[in-house]
Amino acid sequence: AARATLPPFDGSGTTADGHRVPLLANVGGGEEAAVAAAAGAEGVGLLRTEFCFLNRSEEPTIPEQVAAYKAVFEAFPGKKVVVRTLDAGADKPLPFLTDATEPNPALGVRGYRTDWTTPGVLERQLQAIAQAAAESTAVVWVMAPMIATAEEAGHFAGLCSAAGLDTSGVMVEVPSAALTAGSILKRVEFASLGTNDLTQYTMAADRQLGPLAALNDPWQPAVLRLVQATVDGARLGGTGQAPKPVGVCGESAADPALGVVLVGLGVSTLSMTARALPGVAAVLRSVTLDQARDLAGLALSADTAAEARAAVRSKLPVLD
Ligand code: PEP
Ligand code: MG
Repeated sequence: AARATLPPFDGSGTTADGHRVPLLANVGGGEEAAVAAAAGAEGVGLLRTEFCFLNRSEEPTIPEQVAAYKAVFEAFPGKKVVVRTLDAGADKPLPFLTDATEPNPALGVRGYRTDWTTPGVLERQLQAIAQAAAESTAVVWVMAPMIATAEEAGHFAGLCSAAGLDTSGVMVEVPSAALTAGSILKRVEFASLGTNDLTQYTMAADRQLGPLAALNDPWQPAVLRLVQATVDGARLGGTGQAPKPVGVCGESAADPALGVVLVGLGVSTLSMTARALPGVAAVLRSVTLDQARDLAGLALSADTAAEARAAVRSKLPVLD
């Protein structure tokens, strides 16, 4: 019933007291980007580039990649678009990058790690992203998936700057990255929490297995504490500098009650499937930043995911 009464999303995420939280979209290509722009997304928080190239048996050429990325950038002129480099492997195998015989694909050579076994693909992708960015007005940020250590973050930042891409960041989706976010954020400009994988790896529960769904719940206390650790790391990592931005681009950002908790924990942007934007915007607008912080405290002090969810939802009358 609440859903029917939600006001339409007017394209700016803000709390009741005017704290801005840009609401961005997760997209897999140009068509989805156009839909997201029409839905009021303020930019793209996650372009899953592997979706541009699923079912390809060979690496796409640079001109093919430039065309695919430009189609997304052109839907968001002058707006931020965060491009994630290829996240091949596990749930998203790409034949030209993925070794199908690995015994544990989720723990295997996936995401950024494919640069170790298939060097050159990442450099060519960065070159294509830089070219597409130069030919459009979108504000392009680029980030690597599956970063686990500060060395990896530093190496990725070096590759990005060599390609002429100044704003590089990482996904925080491996618990080690959340726990060392301060060191990682000395080397890159921003982080984006991938709570789908962060939950899978924290709970040791394959995200694709239905019987494990209760473990794959981003309200799990351990996951919320890793979000908090990441935001704290972003504050402390740049000692003497402004904290670096930490966004969320996992499905958790599309849960309106959890979105408020994430904002209360200090997350600066939420990126989600476009259809979730109005619901998240409406609930965000029903609380002040201080109330969001109180709700985050309530969630963090719960013993279980179910208790955290129930405690927060009971304080959000807009959800009734
Ligand atoms: C995540 O892991 O939360 C994420 C956003 O990336 P993907 O779902 O593509 O792995
Ligand atoms: Mg992921």
